[in-house]
Amino acid sequence: MLLALLTATLAQATCGACSAEGRAYQVYAAEARAASAEDHPENAYLFAADVHEELATISGERPGVVRPFRVGTSGADRPIWALRLVDPAVPARGTLLVFANIHALEWVPTEVAVAFALDFAAAPIPGVEIVLIPSLNVDGRALVEEDLRAGRNVYRRGNAARVDLNRDFAVNRESRAIWKALIPGRYVVSPAPLSQPESRALDALADAERFDAAVSLHAFGGFFYSPWAGRWERPADHAEFGRLGGLMQNAMVNHPYRPRQLSRWGFVFRGLGMELDHLYGSYGTYAFLVETTRSGVETLADLGSNFRIYNPRDPGPHAREGVRYLRALATEVASGRVQARGAP
Ligand SMILES: [Zn+2]
Repeated sequence: MLLALLTATLAQATCGACSAEGRAYQVYAAEARAASAEDHPENAYLFAADVHEELATISGERPGVVRPFRVGTSGADRPIWALRLVDPAVPARGTLLVFANIHALEWVPTEVAVAFALDFAAAPIPGVEIVLIPSLNVDGRALVEEDLRAGRNVYRRGNAARVDLNRDFAVNRESRAIWKALIPGRYVVSPAPLSQPESRALDALADAERFDAAVSLHAFGGFFYSPWAGRWERPADHAEFGRLGGLMQNAMVNHPYRPRQLSRWGFVFRGLGMELDHLYGSYGTYAFLVETTRSGVETLADLGSNFRIYNPRDPGPHAREGVRYLRALATEVASGRVQARGAP
């Protein structure tokens, strides 16, 4: 407790140039650090305290470039933090939303998000304003942390209420696919549109900011997925999605992911109520769902670990690739050529 108080006071003292919310974030990160052991299982990965320590550090060092703010509160009352990343010397010609870790066990996405924030802080891209949420499903992530510390191997996808946030959005919740009657398990959806505080926080942010482009970072698969996820038809902007997906693909060095419309992942598959359809269908945002990595399985034994299936032993190469494709998309948005034009 005394340690937490001391670190919090120190954090406050070291960021004179930060905004009030920036200072609140410094305090939050310092308290999280004091409450959490630095040594933990899966030490190649950032636990929540490590995430906030990294991000609070760059926000303290570059308060004009990295501006933390709260986008909402989780079902279990945890703050959901975001960073606004800008080059303050240049007016923004476009806006980009990057968010990660909608699925509890998918941690590579957070590694990508943090790496991109660090990269941007070191070398800001002029002309783009980015909102970055390192973890949207903060409660699900916290439960996975507890599992890892206790040596438990639990499959977790949803939030604290066990709702899959990836099926909790408002657009394309119904499917007319004839396969629905045959394979109902492929067509699951949450109890009601925007039923969870985490998805409502994301929607409120998207509604207020009307981002030109967005990326939801998941694992695993190796695709740049575009809308529609819940309908077989091509969207009106299919060609532009292909162009932007191609830009990200070309920015990668090793085994580049391919762009694809998500509903065409498999003939009988439809992703209902998904975040990319919601952002595109509600706000005209060029929204992608990126399946980072091609799974973490390297040995037969890995198949028995829920964490490992999603998260390779070393997230480093995947984080570096993530920086490349996110930088490519952000640079294109900064050109002003990518403009959300309202609901299609
Ligand atoms: Zn996922």
